[in-house]
Order: sequence, then structure tokens, then C-alpha cells
Amino acid sequence: MIDFCSQESKPLLLVEEAIDKIMTAVEAVKECEVIELRLGLGRVLAKDVFASISSPPERNSAMDGYAFNSRDINTENAFVLTLAGTAWAGRPYTAELLAGQCVRIFTGAVVPEALDSVIMQEHVSVNHESIQFPETTQPYQNIRKMGEDIALGSVVLDSNKVLSAMDLGLLASVGIEKIVVKRKVKVAFFSTGDELQTLGQALSSGQIYDSNRYTLTGLLTDPLYDVTDMGLLPDDPDILEENFIKAAEKYDVIISTGGASVGDADYVKDILTRCGNVNFWKLAIKPGKPLAVGKIGNCHFFGLPGNPVAVVVTFQYLVASALKKLAGLTIEKKLQITAICLSDLKKSAGRQEYMRGILTQDSHGVFFVSSAGKQGSHILKSMSHANCYIVLPVTCQGVKEGDKVRVDLMPGTSIL
Ligand code: AMP
Ligand code: MG
Repeated sequence: MIDFCSQESKPLLLVEEAIDKIMTAVEAVKECEVIELRLGLGRVLAKDVFASISSPPERNSAMDGYAFNSRDINTENAFVLTLAGTAWAGRPYTAELLAGQCVRIFTGAVVPEALDSVIMQEHVSVNHESIQFPETTQPYQNIRKMGEDIALGSVVLDSNKVLSAMDLGLLASVGIEKIVVKRKVKVAFFSTGDELQTLGQALSSGQIYDSNRYTLTGLLTDPLYDVTDMGLLPDDPDILEENFIKAAEKYDVIISTGGASVGDADYVKDILTRCGNVNFWKLAIKPGKPLAVGKIGNCHFFGLPGNPVAVVVTFQYLVASALKKLAGLTIEKKLQITAICLSDLKKSAGRQEYMRGILTQDSHGVFFVSSAGKQGSHILKSMSHANCYIVLPVTCQGVKEGDKVRVDLMPGTSIL
């Protein structure tokens, strides 16, 4: 099959070049906000966080057992110490201690000042107030040191860290109740196309349901983004222009789908040229060639193609990194996998192709990938089945079963 999409008068921009152009154009938002720690999951720390207390704040026991002083140990024979009282978690033992005395202690209880060691309760024999310790008793064991996790005044977390559940716990352990984070990136998205119908309405002939807004709602659900679904717009240049200009005043990013190609009802690129500037248009990518990227005022504009699979691919490979950079994240290299392809794959040279695949790993750790089904850019079912993209470079002219291919795991999926 001839790939008519590759019949371009000038070479198409490569995906990697497009990513570089986008990343150069994007700067992290500067504004910050103070939020409660419990709302911090997935947000980006705007400042280094320092510890104003140590964690643990005091020495405490790592075991249920008996606290003693190492001076009272007999390393040759079993020995007996006298029980003076109990140190509970949350209720420290505060009375004076004499030589030869020990204290019953529970996990998390403060170790009394005069003592320096804890033995597990399973290792002693108890006879009323007389506690018999074995000759194998070791000094200085089972005590969690003050500041062992976090020292007073040290950096608990660096700025630009995306907060995980563990980070929330870590910050809570040093008493941090409020945090300074980067503000959310304000994203607006539209669907465009006269043929599109909203859910809840019956389809007339020629209409299809607007699925892209639902895909985008899912792709954009992230604590880093404040997302507004701006609805559905017709293929009317005046209405499109008016809405894009209005949205550009309010949002950091506009994403539209549809109307970015060269058809008579494709107005997006012309509007972007008129009201803003075009960073680039059209990429050596399949699916997703007609992609119009630029700015309207201070707002970044991503005019994605209408085809539902192209929306996902261009979002994940081009838009997502830009949004993350805007949100203040440092972009890390994606894990890349080489797998043995179990399917013959047809391809013509000219564009980098992202095919939907199913990645598996055998018991020796070897990766295998097969096609997830039909690859048309309107086929959502194979997209739903897939857990990876088989990424075939621009020059590739097809793959035979047994060939090695590059595979990228799809965000949010796992290897089968
Ligand atoms: P376009 O990029 O506007 O030429 O659209 C390309 C293809 O994607 C056409 O078959 C459209 O009907 C389809 N399409 C465009 N927008 C959507 C949408 N929001 N949901 C589902 N399909 C769409
Ligand atoms: Mg259209």
C-alpha cells in the first residue's frame, strides 16, 4: 500500500526534533501556592523542605523487651537485673534508675536516659521483679537513634520533587503540616468537527460520538493539572478563532482535536498562524502527522489530529512532556525495551510509526511483542488491548516475525 501521507514536498519534522522544539518553547510556571500536606500527592515541591525537628525525635526502642545499661552485662554467664518499672509508647519512664536495674519497654517507647541497650522479651526469663538475661546478651542493640531517619536542620526533600505517598508520610514524620508547591497548570481542551455528537444524543446519519474529549479527560487526570473541558466546536473558522482567543487569555495550554490537517474544513493551523504563531506543523509520525503546535499570546497551543488513536499517541509523546515541564518537573528518559517481534508488520518508509502492541516477558526475562490488532488510526479497540507501542523508525520498511524491535511501555500499563 502506498503511504500517501508520506508524499510531502519537503521533509517532515522528526519526532525527536519536534520534542526538542516543544521543550525549548516551554518554561515551568513560576507561581506557587501553599497547600495542606494531605492534598500534596502528585504535586511538585516548590522549595526545599528542612527539618525543624529530628526523626525519631528521641531515642526509642525497636522491640518489645527490656532496656538495660551495658555496664550491668555479664558476658560470661547469664545474669539477673531487677525490674524498676515500665516504659510505654507515649508514656516514658521518668523515675531514677540504679545500677543493676532494668525497665520493661515496648516498641516506640523512649529509652530512659540512664539506659543504652534493649533485649527482645523472647530472650529473657521473667520471675516477678527478677529478669534473667542470657550470657549472649549484646550491648547497644535494638535502639532507634534520635535523628536516625532525619537529622534536625537537614533537607527532608528537595524542591521539584513530585510528592509520592511515601513523601507525604516522610514530611508528616517531621511535623510538616503545610507545603509550598508549584501551582497547577491550567489546561483547556476542545473537540472540533461538524460530524461530532455529544453523548446522550442520538446519532443522525454522518455523525459519530465525540470520543476524544473522554480520552483527553482521562489522559489529563493528574494532580499537576487543572483541567477544563471546553466542549465541542463546529468546523467554523470564526467560532473556532473566537473560542481559542478567549481560552488563551485564561489558560496555560489549549489542546484541540480535529481540523488540523489540510482538508477544506481544517482551519486550526490557519487560525494559529493568524492569532498566534506556529512553532511547527506536520510531523514524521504515524499516526498523528497533522499536528499544529504553537502559541496564542502566552498560551501554548496543541492542535492535535482528530483521529482517536493519533490523539493518544501525539498526547503521550509530545504534549505530556510539555505539560510536565510546565508543571515544574524535570523530564526523565523513558525506559526503552528491545523485544522479539512475533508478528509481521507492514510499514513504508517516511514516518516513525507507533503500533499498538502486546508485550510479554518469559521466565528468562526475554521480551516478546505482538501486534495488538488492527492498526488504523480510528481503531480504539486495539488501543484498549495494547500495553505498549512498537516504535518503528522512519526508515523502517516493515518487520518480519523474529526481528528485534523497540518497544515503549504505555503509561499506566504493565508487562503481561
Ligand atoms: P480531522 O482531523 O478533523 O480531519 O478528523 C480525522 C478523523 O477523526 C475523522 O474521521 C473524524 O471524524 C475523527 N474525529 C475527529 N474528532 C473526533 C472526536 N472528537 N472523536 C472521535 N473521532 C473524531
Ligand atoms: Mg474534522
